[in-house]
Amino acid sequence: MIKMFEIKASDLAGRIGEIKTKRGSLETPCILPVIHPARQIIAPKDMDKMGFKAVMTNAYITLKVFGKIAEEKGIHRIIDYDGIIMTDSGGYQILEYGSLEVSPVEMAIFQERIGSDIALVLDTPTGIGVDRKRAKKTVEMTLKAAEETLKVVKTESTLWVGPIQGGSYLDLLKKSAKLTSKMKFDLFALGSPTEVMESYNFELLAKMIITVKQSLPIDKPLHLFGAGHPLTIPLAVALGCDLFDSASYIIYAREGRYMTDYGTLRFDELKYLPCNCNICSNHTLKEIKDLEPKERIKKIATHNLNVLLKEVKATKQAIEDGRLWEYLGIKARAHPMFWQVFKLLINNYEFLEDGTPLFKPRALFFYEHYDLMRPEALRYHKMLIEDLFVLPEKKILLILPESDVKPFYKSPFYIKLTKALGDTLKYIQICFLTLPFGLVPVELSDVYPLSQYVNSLKLDSYVMKRILKLTKEFIKKYPFDKIIFLNHQDAYYPILRKLARIIKNSFIIDTNTNNFDEIEKKISKSISEERS
Ligand SMILES: [Zn+2]
Repeated sequence: MIKMFEIKASDLAGRIGEIKTKRGSLETPCILPVIHPARQIIAPKDMDKMGFKAVMTNAYITLKVFGKIAEEKGIHRIIDYDGIIMTDSGGYQILEYGSLEVSPVEMAIFQERIGSDIALVLDTPTGIGVDRKRAKKTVEMTLKAAEETLKVVKTESTLWVGPIQGGSYLDLLKKSAKLTSKMKFDLFALGSPTEVMESYNFELLAKMIITVKQSLPIDKPLHLFGAGHPLTIPLAVALGCDLFDSASYIIYAREGRYMTDYGTLRFDELKYLPCNCNICSNHTLKEIKDLEPKERIKKIATHNLNVLLKEVKATKQAIEDGRLWEYLGIKARAHPMFWQVFKLLINNYEFLEDGTPLFKPRALFFYEHYDLMRPEALRYHKMLIEDLFVLPEKKILLILPESDVKPFYKSPFYIKLTKALGDTLKYIQICFLTLPFGLVPVELSDVYPLSQYVNSLKLDSYVMKRILKLTKEFIKKYPFDKIIFLNHQDAYYPILRKLARIIKNSFIIDTNTNNFDEIEKKISKSISEERS
């Protein structure tokens, strides 16, 4: 059996996948521009040329405008587009105007008849800012619509999307996701976060996605409604969303908002066109400003689409490179509300760890203290505490500051030191003290990522606190008779001094010398004192 959805690469909870539809495959993450079935400012055919392999249009409006003719012609001819078409069924119109005069069953049958490739249940969106009673009601109505829809559809030709509602009520979202996940849907969709995104409430958005993802099967794609913003795309992808739709490209264009990689700018206030897309490189700013309003909107909308497409591609490349964490860090700098999300991410280590590969093609970057809590660092520490085996005769723990040479056992200091120690080595477990990972036993120092990282962390109070915690946990798990810190790099002296003060049976040996025989004597002397 051909799987409907296949995951090809992943990082954090984000993935690159492939959805099989009757019109061919769709690589995810993917953004679908929203188009009006009857009035289009940019023709769907032109979107295909730009690289959009799927679009979203509205089945309810199609029904209103074209009626039965739509069933004869089919949605692909109506909008003149050969790619994959996802149809929304009018839920958004319910949010805008209240109830509709068609039922979920009627909408389901209509969507199959017009040949929709991916179709959505006519749900009742919760929206944001409604009271709990109303939110609960929308969840119940949506669940009922989902059940009724699945009873009437013939799922072979159209993939069906199960909508999840609950708005900002996380417990309702969870319930909605749990119950919907038990139904036979091909995909799922998280509803109504548009207002959340408009207010840049990235934290609430992240909480909503994490809540829903934790209740859904991993092998099914998740669509996020209305996430057409260059900052929400990488965040939502990192948390496991696979599909997006965007009406924002045209809504923003009408409002005179010009997208950039980090947000939007007022087009009227631009002095330059900070973009190289075909619109921005083939026109001067003045030329676009002088256009008729309709033409100007079209140009800005096309530019906005280019920015969104580029964002999806950049996020996908970050997944391939294993650099999605770093990429989020760059994006997070664009807005303080985005930066807040990092707190949430580091509290959801297990959620992000599952999709993070054990080995990556590139080194990990550590910039500041949030990076200490990235999944790879936490995973290493867990492995160290749970799986390390220390030989019983190794009663002495010798700790050296990390070296610039990696793996650490290749550092000249280490080589000369172990040569000088000779037979005494068999009583000694050597660990390197690293800022990102805490203690690294020399035997593990070439395991990924312990010699594949680049670090610009400074020994500030946060890093210090973290290292103290990690070291204490290590020593509690592996009790040694004596712990010796070798101080041969002044930069590490503050942390060594602090560790030596709080850890029992530990002391510092100063080694600001290249006389390794002398160092060996000091170490051996302290060991023999212990053994006698
Ligand atoms: Zn542009």
